[in-house]
Amino acid sequence: MLKGKTALVTGSTSGIGLGMAMAMARQGANIVLNGFGDIEAARAQVAALGVRVGYHGADMSKPDQIEAMMAYAASEFGGVDVLVNNAGIQHVAEIDQFPVERWDAIISINLSSAFHTMRLALPTMKSRGWGRIINVASVHGLVASTAKSAYVAAKHGIVGLTKVAALETATTGVTVNAICPGWVLTPLVQKQVDARAQRDGIDNEAAKRALLAEKEPSMQFTTPEELAELALFFCSPAANNVRGVAWAMDGGWTAQ
Ligand code: NAD
Repeated sequence: MLKGKTALVTGSTSGIGLGMAMAMARQGANIVLNGFGDIEAARAQVAALGVRVGYHGADMSKPDQIEAMMAYAASEFGGVDVLVNNAGIQHVAEIDQFPVERWDAIISINLSSAFHTMRLALPTMKSRGWGRIINVASVHGLVASTAKSAYVAAKHGIVGLTKVAALETATTGVTVNAICPGWVLTPLVQKQVDARAQRDGIDNEAAKRALLAEKEPSMQFTTPEELAELALFFCSPAANNVRGVAWAMDGGWTAQ
């Protein structure tokens, strides 16, 4: 479905981003990876699917580095056809305890980075008459939880940004949509499981159950593979007129 196209996925060295990159590669897309950590393992997993794989280590909190990443994608891959804005971090503390530096980091990585990648990707997508932008938001783009002020603000922001971009491209072949996962058991959430286990003096399994029981009626984690299938649907011809949605995959979290 995506043969000959290039997909750039921010924060794709682990978790949901890596799942998205693998799914796009299985559909034939060349992939530009981004993120920190075990870069070679991520590159090898995607390259094993037989597509061309690039990597740029831009820090998503730095607009000049994002510009360099988009220039790399243009010069090495001829531009970006599918843009997945996925990089994100979390910090949990109540507002009066929230470190100012963490607030700034979350807003820049989880929200402003998507503005920068979009402003730089849109001209080529519009001139080609086709493009797909998928913003990985969260249930926290739709509802709030305590102790997640920066994250909830950033995710509500990216849902709003998605809607504006969808309206601005509504008569073109470019679509812009958001995905809103509930709990997904990635390193980002494992940290919260660990904190819960320590706080309540319970083991890892009990902490996972407690986290799910509080918010997610299905008592199941959503998987990166399931989220990637939704992203592929947004890339498919059947989704040509799906524009500006914030689609939850959350085990009933936001139905309550
Ligand atoms: P993760 O920690 O497994 O992956 C985060 C990725 O972002 C990694 O590749 C990391 O290297 C990269 N990253 C972090 N800071 C970066 C920076 N400054 N510049 C570039 N890359 C950076 O987390 P995940 O759970 O896969 O999260 C991916 C996205 O999904 C995030 O936007 C997150 O908010 C969202 N999300 C996650 C969950 C969940 O339950 N895990 C739920 C809803 C939404």
